[in-house]
Amino acid sequence: MLPISYWSVLALIFCTYVGPLSYSLQTLESVENLREQRSPVKIAIVGGGIGGTSNAFFLRDLFGEEAAITLFEKNTIGGRLATVSIAGAQYEMGGSIIHPRNLYMKQFLQDFGLKERETKGTDGTLGIYNGEEFLFQSSRYSLLTLIKMLWRYGFDIFRLNWTIDKVLNKFARIYDFQDGGQSFTDIEGIMKAMGGEEFIGWLHKPLDVVLREEGFSERFIQELAAIATRANYGQNPDMMGFAGMVSLAGAMPGLWSIEGGNKLVPQQLLQRSGATLMQSQVQSVERVTGKSAEKPILRVTWNEPAKGDQSDVFDIVMIASPIEDNLSGIAFTGFDHPITANFTGDYRHTVASFIEGRQRPSTFGISPKGQLPGSIITNAEVPLNIRTLAKNYPVDYNPETFNASRQVYKVFSTGVLNDTQMDALFESYSEVTHHDWLAYPYYHERKTFPGFVLSEGLFYPNAIEWAASAMEMAVIGSRNSAILAYQYWHGESPKGKVGTSRTRQEL
Ligand SMILES: Cc1cc2nc3c(=O)[nH]c(=O)nc-3n(C[C@H](O)[C@H](O)[C@H](O)COP(=O)(O)OP(=O)(O)OC[C@H]3O[C@@H](n4cnc5c(N)ncnc54)[C@H](O)[C@@H]3O)c2cc1C
Repeated sequence: MLPISYWSVLALIFCTYVGPLSYSLQTLESVENLREQRSPVKIAIVGGGIGGTSNAFFLRDLFGEEAAITLFEKNTIGGRLATVSIAGAQYEMGGSIIHPRNLYMKQFLQDFGLKERETKGTDGTLGIYNGEEFLFQSSRYSLLTLIKMLWRYGFDIFRLNWTIDKVLNKFARIYDFQDGGQSFTDIEGIMKAMGGEEFIGWLHKPLDVVLREEGFSERFIQELAAIATRANYGQNPDMMGFAGMVSLAGAMPGLWSIEGGNKLVPQQLLQRSGATLMQSQVQSVERVTGKSAEKPILRVTWNEPAKGDQSDVFDIVMIASPIEDNLSGIAFTGFDHPITANFTGDYRHTVASFIEGRQRPSTFGISPKGQLPGSIITNAEVPLNIRTLAKNYPVDYNPETFNASRQVYKVFSTGVLNDTQMDALFESYSEVTHHDWLAYPYYHERKTFPGFVLSEGLFYPNAIEWAASAMEMAVIGSRNSAILAYQYWHGESPKGKVGTSRTRQEL
């Protein structure tokens, strides 16, 4: 049951915005009548992850009090940003690392008074494992690690820095475009604006091919690039180039996360947007006015366990959750074209397991008393089924108080680890929990991409995931969709309105 206060707020909003009765569109008389009653603009957002909540935040920024925003979330706010409780502490279960040049996430951190999580004292050593032996192991001493890397990968270490720097400089152009009120209807448009034909090409070209063209060696591709793509997207270097480059950026130094959990950001975004939260699963979106209507009305139907099916009408609907493979379970009806036609992609399973226990070094060819690297990343499929096995630290990690005897390990694997695999990895374990995510798109070759505009008044911020899936990407897709919605509603660019963003000036 929802608290009474929630319903009274909802009732107030309904009375203020749509009159005492919610719409029953079965008895629609006149679209224009309804439009008058429905001022201000009514916006529904489906999905309360970082995408949907930042969408609500940017919509509020653009529309101000002119908009009544309702956000539907079937589970918990945060979506793929979530924590799990194990060994008496909370650990990041989904999206965990943020790049230092992710300016929106940095801005939210500052604006919401949040703190970066302490990492000093964590074991940052790394081993690349091919299923038989460690191909490379870093040292606790950074100078020694650099020498070892230069020895094995040579000049490619510097080439990687330059390449990622070049990519990030181009990527950063999106902040200027969005501050200037510019929007894009498709992924290709965003890619072109940021990185011209090169970025568009990377949507279609595998990372290994891109890296070879950039002059990287085969050893670099099969080892360093492979661990970046496998750790960040559970895929190999033959995945598509742009997402592959994002995964390489995710392997660079300076990565951070939010103290207390990354999910605090979507929680804050929702609160500050002033959107009304509907804890329900949306079942369908229907276009209920004919083709001739100047702007259509969209009916959203959702299910409430206590009340059954409910519906209301909106001017604008944002689908802030993947709809490929019917992942969100939403039926689209009444549109003049099939909304999800050509949405053929699938999402990659990633099982995140958390284990409080003691590792078994002998499985990795290390003497029983020997030390394994803090993070083990496989560069190819291995019989143990793991992609990564790493020491993990709580979201409120404090080196002074951390109890090292309760070390928790995080394993990413394709499926749930069976008893034999668990015994091979751990001599003993006291607590285990796992979550099977449909984590990110499978970035294989595709000819077409979903657009940000599904139909008049119906937008799809998550289209951006087909370029690359990451928190910052979700925010960029959501701000783009908010600008598109403003332009759609007002028939003009929101230049002056979004120009107030301080993202660039303050960071
Ligand atoms: C294991 C893992 C590790 C990751 N690591 C990183 C990382 O280190 N760094 C990084 O930047 N990114 C990472 N990511 C990716 C990042 O988490 C996602 O790109 C981002 O969180 C997606 O946000 P979103 O809001 O678009 O989607 P989601 O978070 O999936 O939100 C969609 C929401 O919609 C809700 N929903 C769906 N259908 C309906 C419906 N019909 N009605 C109502 N609600 C509905 C869902 O319950 C969900 O809460 C990782 C993801 C995973 C799974």
